[in-house]
Amino acid sequence: MSDIKKRIAVLGSTGSIGTQTLEVVRNNNDFIIDVLAAYSSVEALEKQVREFSPRLVCVYKEEAAVRLKEAIADTETSVVTGMEGLIEAARFDTADIAVTAMVGMIGIRPTIEAIKAGKDIALANKETLVTAGHIIMPLAKEHGVKIIPVDSEHSAIFQCLNGEHTEEIDKILLTASGGPFRGKTREQMRDITVEQALKHPNWAMGKKITIDSATMVNKGLEVMEARWLFNTDFDNIQVVVQPQSLIHSMIQFKDGAIVAQLGTPDMKLPIQYALTYPERRYLKGDRVDFNTLARITFFAPDMENFAALRMAYEAGRMGGVMPTVFNAANEMAVSRFLDKKIGFLDITDSIQYAMSMVKNTDNPDLKEILDTEQYVYELLLSYFG
Ligand code: MG
Repeated sequence: MSDIKKRIAVLGSTGSIGTQTLEVVRNNNDFIIDVLAAYSSVEALEKQVREFSPRLVCVYKEEAAVRLKEAIADTETSVVTGMEGLIEAARFDTADIAVTAMVGMIGIRPTIEAIKAGKDIALANKETLVTAGHIIMPLAKEHGVKIIPVDSEHSAIFQCLNGEHTEEIDKILLTASGGPFRGKTREQMRDITVEQALKHPNWAMGKKITIDSATMVNKGLEVMEARWLFNTDFDNIQVVVQPQSLIHSMIQFKDGAIVAQLGTPDMKLPIQYALTYPERRYLKGDRVDFNTLARITFFAPDMENFAALRMAYEAGRMGGVMPTVFNAANEMAVSRFLDKKIGFLDITDSIQYAMSMVKNTDNPDLKEILDTEQYVYELLLSYFG
């Protein structure tokens, strides 16, 4: 094993992916944390700063940054804030790789800046590719940086592609658990509560993505993400429901061969793989036991009752700002649902409404993407009343 020694910037360090990234770092003593960034969690950040001694920490919310600065005044770590601070964190000179684990479209600008500064990207922020894949992928190529997916499905596809060529892909078989409400009709989902939607059968994840899994928006975003990561057509991305979450995704090649990646559902595997790629290292945890494994089952996705998945394909095929409209409408609707202001079905309905109200723009630049996001937020604010 070569000694990898990586200097890492964790953007979104207090969330689910961020804390699991730090757990991976804890278990690999040649990984060094140079930068941490979070939205507003001062207490969690203070603990992380004391444990990992980063050179720079960014707290997005200004008043939280002021509090953190006081709390860690006795340390060597500098504190920055706001989008400017987040960009400084993303570009930090000594870091080799940025783990982009922020939730939402806030992740786009820092990811672009990290690429421009030549950092490899361990990509955990779906919104970046969903809304700006046409900007990000050519930019990464231009700067010679690797984009290594952290999402379990995309990591699986990435792993299946080892030693193969993307041109030889016939079809991506993107697996989905189907979420907690698989098998229910739309009517049966009308009164679903926040608490019910937050119970995912297999994966322990952050709140936003858990709701996205329940509506299957998450799978829709992953379809759009896969289109850019693996440069493939939407017709060649097939969602396969696999409720045990043991197959993390598969590729069917031109010759008909199907290669799958399996494992117990544990995000630390794709996170560690993104940091050690192309090497593999020991990772503590359960293993799949084929002697006791009863079965792995498969279903076709239900795009009628889970219309968000169908709309994601539509938005993806339309391209332009439509994926941004899809994503921004969902972001706002999920936050309203989590605040118990709207019902479960309103999430999907909001996306449909927003997509019907916005005129598409081809090949949008970053400003048009961010303007569309704002426009959709305003549109939905009046829609919710
Ligand atoms: Mg996933």
